[in-house]
Amino acid sequence: MWAYVNGAFVPDRDAAVSVHDRGFRYGDGVFDTLRVYDGRPFLIDEHVGRLVASSKTLGIGGLPPGDALSALIREVITRNGFGNALVRTTVTRGVSDGWEPDPTARPSVVVVGRPFSGYPAHLYRDGASIVVTTIRIPASPPDPVLKSLNRLAQIQAKREAMARGADEAVLCTDAGLVAEGSVSNVFCVDAGRIITPPASVGLLPGITRGVVIDLARREGLACDETPFGLEDLQGADEVFLTSTGMEVLPVTRVDGRPIGLGRPGPIASALRRLYHVRVRENG
Ligand code: PMP
Repeated sequence: MWAYVNGAFVPDRDAAVSVHDRGFRYGDGVFDTLRVYDGRPFLIDEHVGRLVASSKTLGIGGLPPGDALSALIREVITRNGFGNALVRTTVTRGVSDGWEPDPTARPSVVVVGRPFSGYPAHLYRDGASIVVTTIRIPASPPDPVLKSLNRLAQIQAKREAMARGADEAVLCTDAGLVAEGSVSNVFCVDAGRIITPPASVGLLPGITRGVVIDLARREGLACDETPFGLEDLQGADEVFLTSTGMEVLPVTRVDGRPIGLGRPGPIASALRRLYHVRVRENG
């Protein structure tokens, strides 16, 4: 397996950055994960665009331009002969001696990948289980909106979900609004209306989320970005999650209690089909 690290393609097992890298020291950086289907990256412009925009927000300068980053990602796909895969790009503020960022430092850029052909089939057949954690989404902007290397709240939430035997954890805001999953966005369906929390609640507005909102609206389904609480989640007819890796994943249990009829619902199933059509159109 080949990885790209700061200007060179190297065997994955030798891929390394300095222990003084600020990504390692402080989580001072951003990352992105995109999906490769049949050798083709899906929504690469959106993924690279988000990475570049997040780097800019953090004032990480000196990055290769977006089209050069896309070319590096494509090269990692080609060199590894990836068919179905996940490719992760990490950007950090580079190396510094101590806490103070070095304005002359070059950012670190790492691209790695691994074969991936989706989450286990039983999750789509039976639906996933989620738990609502007591971990709150970090409130202060720009934290949740950026795909930064700081994932402690989400990791603690995921650990809690694993300990409770669930597939994913949902984090709420301090005000008790549903925000997002540890690595996914959350949708509910109530009386045929699809809702997902707006970015203003404090969450990462995922690329998959955007595609799914678009697909729903094109299909003539009511789909709104609206804040909602735990009771709405628990009382929904359907719940589903979206992410690059999950695509559209139906949820059939929240905190051990069934959602709707306890089976994947028709709207999640329809959106999953439409998502796959969009993937095929990508070629
Ligand atoms: N929220 C969080 C916290 C995430 O880590 C992810 C995964 N990147 C998402 C939402 C979904 O984003 P996307 O659809 O871009 O993968």
